[in-house]
Amino acid sequence: MTIAQEVRILLARLGVAESAYTGGTMPSFSPVSGEKVADIVVHSADETGKAIELSQAAFREWRLVPAPKRGELVRLFGEELRALKSELGRLVSIEAGKIPSEGLGEVQEMIDICDFAVGLSRQLYGLTIATERPGHRMMETWHPLGVVGVISAFNFPVAVWSWNAALALVCGNSVVWKPSEKTPLTALACLAIFERAAKRFGDVPAGLAQVIMGDRTVGEALVDHPKVALVSATGSTRMGREVGPRLARRFARSILELGGNNAGIVCPSADLDMAVRAIAFGAMGTAGQRCTSLRRLFVHESVYDTLVPRLKKAYESVSVGSPLDTSALVGPLIDKAAYENMQKALSEAVETGGIVTGGKRVDTGHDNAYYVRPALVEMPKQDGPVTKETFAPILYVMKYDDFDEAIVDHNAVGAGLSSSIFTLNLQEAERFLSPDGSDCGIANVNIGTSGAEIGGAFGGEKETGGGRESGSDAWKAYMRRATNTVNYSSALPLAQGVSFDI
Ligand code: NAD
Repeated sequence: MTIAQEVRILLARLGVAESAYTGGTMPSFSPVSGEKVADIVVHSADETGKAIELSQAAFREWRLVPAPKRGELVRLFGEELRALKSELGRLVSIEAGKIPSEGLGEVQEMIDICDFAVGLSRQLYGLTIATERPGHRMMETWHPLGVVGVISAFNFPVAVWSWNAALALVCGNSVVWKPSEKTPLTALACLAIFERAAKRFGDVPAGLAQVIMGDRTVGEALVDHPKVALVSATGSTRMGREVGPRLARRFARSILELGGNNAGIVCPSADLDMAVRAIAFGAMGTAGQRCTSLRRLFVHESVYDTLVPRLKKAYESVSVGSPLDTSALVGPLIDKAAYENMQKALSEAVETGGIVTGGKRVDTGHDNAYYVRPALVEMPKQDGPVTKETFAPILYVMKYDDFDEAIVDHNAVGAGLSSSIFTLNLQEAERFLSPDGSDCGIANVNIGTSGAEIGGAFGGEKETGGGRESGSDAWKAYMRRATNTVNYSSALPLAQGVSFDI
């Protein structure tokens, strides 16, 4: 069976109408073999506008449904995801090139956020605030916001949407999703699964969750539409630089989840067995195509000559191959452009004095599929390509002797997403987590940079955009806050002792 044939079978099982992915103008490829698997029907500007209008109408109804009842819809969605986990996970592997456990893991992440959102639907707590005026009560309430636009990247084709959608829906919003043009099929599948849940729920307004297909121009239409209250945009920093100001111009809200250039520090006391495993997963897992992938490593000079040879061995022996029919740990890059970017960065690294292990293309018999052996590059210092994100499995390794300087170098890049330290020394660990330690949104101790759980707020600082999604109090970004003061006395005292007697 070809991949294209398997895709059709999976999409039929997942309930996706054939008309959505045949005869359209946007070809869709599988990075596993490079073959074309579908022709996606895209949305015109007019259709995008109509989808947003429908979403606005759906929001008006949905905001009046009690939050715990809204949670029931998300609970049913989670149930449907559980039932179709293997099919959707497999489609993620085919479309994004993830190994099976990661394809399934992404769907598990969707299930987890649904569970979280269901609980949250009974906990959208406001505050009661002490007021200075007698006979008054002051409080803070949270209300639904409006149409939430979601723009997502290819590398987490389903989880990122669900982080946003599950929270947005329990918060009383409607959702319009522009998935990556590189991963449209999994988006169609998610919507079909959502529709099953909506049917079981019964009374869901038409257009409560929609998907709009196309390239960045469709994303731009979503960003510019006056009826979209919030856009949660996940992708490159380049994309965020365009989207952020456009949203700011019309005072719309944004959650920006952009690129990372994540680093780890390996200290003299580190458990090196643990560090090797964590570094290998963080840097080579998902073929280096996670926003949280480990890209820079600072190793103390006292352990450098022990750790780096062990890492090199892991790089030379890690299995690279098809995520569908081998037990490989490293699947393909998404496309040719990703491969070329990787080779360009490696050439620049060599010009900057780097020594490269790995990085060459691995022949799998598919001319249009791009498999590479992950690259470990020993660098004399943090310079050239080390300072920017290349979305490929390249790990730059540098030696340090002074902990303070290692922290300065760690923070001396544009992005601020994820970070980790490997140490058994309490002072180093706590310093790394302190105000003058890591400047990232995620800072870990004795854990790699990637593989976050949904319970924490996810996102990063600086060029990563500052947005937060998923757990903790990230839900607040999907609601509007109102401060209410009620006077239950028969007087009208003014705040700050102001008098205005007429
Ligand atoms: P990308 O920026 O090329 O595209 C992401 C999405 O943005 C796509 O849907 C694309 O169509 C859309 N888009 C691009 N330009 C746009 C514009 N001007 N207006 C509106 N929409 C636009 O990113 P990619 O190659 O798909 O993904 C890889 C990047 O995403 C990496 O930089 C990675 O670090 C980042 N990423 C970040 C996170 C995070 O949570 N911080 C998560 C996943 C990926």
